[in-house]
Amino acid sequence: MNPKCARCTKTVYPVEKLSCLDKAWHKGCFSCEICKMTLTMKNYKGYDKKPYCTAHYPTTKFTAVADTPENKRLKENTKKQSNVQYHKDFEASRGHYIAVTDDPEMKRAQRSSEIASQVAYTQHSSGQSRLGVQQRTANGLKIN
Ligand SMILES: [Zn+2]
Ligand SMILES: [Zn+2]
Repeated sequence: MNPKCARCTKTVYPVEKLSCLDKAWHKGCFSCEICKMTLTMKNYKGYDKKPYCTAHYPTTKFTAVADTPENKRLKENTKKQSNVQYHKDFEASRGHYIAVTDDPEMKRAQRSSEIASQVAYTQHSSGQSRLGVQQRTANGLKIN
């Protein structure tokens, strides 16, 4: 009894069979869930028993450093943005490109990432100016 392909549900004969993620696949059916790029045993990444290419493997990009409410909110926004990106990629690959960036929720998410990078920048530059003040003080002492 030959197994059924996990993608197209047709029978997989031994010559074209690829066993992976506890399932059987036609070699040509073993492709990324998102972009449908054909994968091999060497370059696939399994997640939730489904194959993904390296680009679309659903990783947790922000490992929890500190789970402050602000961090959680930012993480949520980032997650929403990547889901939208996946959706766009998927639609684009099928030839139906749908612009979703004008969604009010998206705009809010984009704004908060902008604010986040501004905050990081401000912290950085204020650190530098503090250093500058210290140097000036040191110079002042030397003159005295
Ligand atoms: Zn198949
Ligand atoms: Zn992919």
